[in-house]
Amino acid sequence: MRRGRDRRLAGERTQAVPCTAVSQPAGTASAVDAPPRSIDSPEAPGSPDAADDLAADTVADIVADVVVVGAGPAGAAAAITLARAGRRVVVVDKARFPRDKICGDGLTTGALRLLEELGVYPASVDSWQPVHDIHVGGPKGHTVTFPLPRDRGQYAVVAPRTEVDDALVRRVKAEGVTVIEQASVTAVDDAPGHVTVTVSVETDSDLEADGSDGASPLTRTIRARYLVAADGMWSPTRKLLGATEPGYLGEWHAFRQYFSNVGPLARDLWVWFEADLLPGYFWVFPLPDGRANVGFGIQRGGKVATKEMKALWPELLARPHIARVLGPDAQPEGRHQAWPIPARVNDMELSAGRVLWVGDAAAATDPMTGEGIGQALLTGVLAARAIVARSPGVSGRSGPSPLAGSTPAEAAAVREFYERSVQRELVADHHMSTLLVRALKHRKGARAAIRVAGLTDWTRRNFARWLFEDEPRAVVLTPRRWHRRFLNRDGAYLSDR
Ligand SMILES: Cc1cc2nc3c(=O)[nH]c(=O)nc-3n(C[C@H](O)[C@H](O)[C@H](O)COP(=O)(O)OP(=O)(O)OC[C@H]3O[C@@H](n4cnc5c(N)ncnc54)[C@H](O)[C@@H]3O)c2cc1C
Repeated sequence: MRRGRDRRLAGERTQAVPCTAVSQPAGTASAVDAPPRSIDSPEAPGSPDAADDLAADTVADIVADVVVVGAGPAGAAAAITLARAGRRVVVVDKARFPRDKICGDGLTTGALRLLEELGVYPASVDSWQPVHDIHVGGPKGHTVTFPLPRDRGQYAVVAPRTEVDDALVRRVKAEGVTVIEQASVTAVDDAPGHVTVTVSVETDSDLEADGSDGASPLTRTIRARYLVAADGMWSPTRKLLGATEPGYLGEWHAFRQYFSNVGPLARDLWVWFEADLLPGYFWVFPLPDGRANVGFGIQRGGKVATKEMKALWPELLARPHIARVLGPDAQPEGRHQAWPIPARVNDMELSAGRVLWVGDAAAATDPMTGEGIGQALLTGVLAARAIVARSPGVSGRSGPSPLAGSTPAEAAAVREFYERSVQRELVADHHMSTLLVRALKHRKGARAAIRVAGLTDWTRRNFARWLFEDEPRAVVLTPRRWHRRFLNRDGAYLSDR
């Protein structure tokens, strides 16, 4: 993990911009054009009333405690945590929600526990599919079934990202945060006392803020004490701040397509360590109503080149063990899509100046499984906690501007707090997964791992948890987890909501 540093790097300023789409927290006024002013609200920051004030400023200069770029799991988790701690937060995302994200849609126990803490419940996601049994196939066709604990909460769930991310964004708004959708970041200026983010905002005609026909573009600036950059694998904030590694394309590349009319076997979750994909794997993840999320991931630089993935797809689908699980009537929906997976949190610049990178923008996915939703939620929460812990935050209309008195020393303390938290929470798991990937690279290693895991009831139960619950994976390297209940913790959502 590379240390964050103080620096002043200005992104190129772009003047031309489209129009505005501002999503207000439920029950608040729509955006109106207003002269630039700071958000000094008499109400508790983070409350819907404070958000009202922010809303009034959304098409002019906005001043807030924190600007979050990207409203995926990482950005949403940061925004919710900050709002709950009383910080004034603005979230911008170039998409309009609900939006899709190319993903396997698998939620690990770690992700589920965090979603629950953040206030996202199964009832808010229509296609929420709990998983009870996991079938893992080895490179020689040997398959072992791993059961997850019953009646102790949920340990693994599959739910489409369109719905999960929309539920998170609705939660963000309900916490009183202003979310500006269809707003693309075009410049970032990381100055000594504050950070300025320039966005280019598009508006549909029905969301027009200034009464125009939606044709005229708008450029808006948001000034804040800190920027939480949750803008995904291709992180534009990284690019704008000159913090990208040239030619970096991620550690993994994964391919996904939805299917409908799948057979009854596809009601369980299946993973196959196919010999030619090692250490990658093929998956069939169940969804309600006879649907499934089907895909495969490969490690960049492995046996299969990323440009060969498209040609390999029909061949993989036709393999007898995979075709049997999908069933004879399975129908592909829409087109297949591929996307990179960044998994090098231990070797990534996580912060600079007043910017904290989280989620895929911090390359936080697990290097063995490619799971990144739980890691995105976690890094979002950790970034928010670092800001709350080390930056006082300013509240109340009579108080000073949110930008007042923030020193470089304060920013350095925020960065340090965040990087130490990531080190503590993620880096050991990352190292352990990297070691395991080495074993899974070879047929013998993969075969041995699956056979050992399937030896007894105990190994089967715990292998399933180990696959789907991030916490036990690096237990050898993290003695602080050696508490009595760590292998015996309940899942999420023990009580129905
Ligand atoms: C094929 C595939 C399968 C996967 N399967 C799984 C799985 O089953 N389980 C799992 O846990 N993980 C999985 N992952 C990983 C997971 O999808 C990511 O780790 C996760 O989405 C990271 O969340 P995030 O919030 O960091 O980024 P994202 O979800 O990518 O969100 C980034 C946000 O930033 C916004 N943004 C981008 N550019 C701009 C800009 N210029 N201005 C404003 N906003 C911008 C985007 O619109 C987006 O909403 C998979 C990944 C792939 C590719």
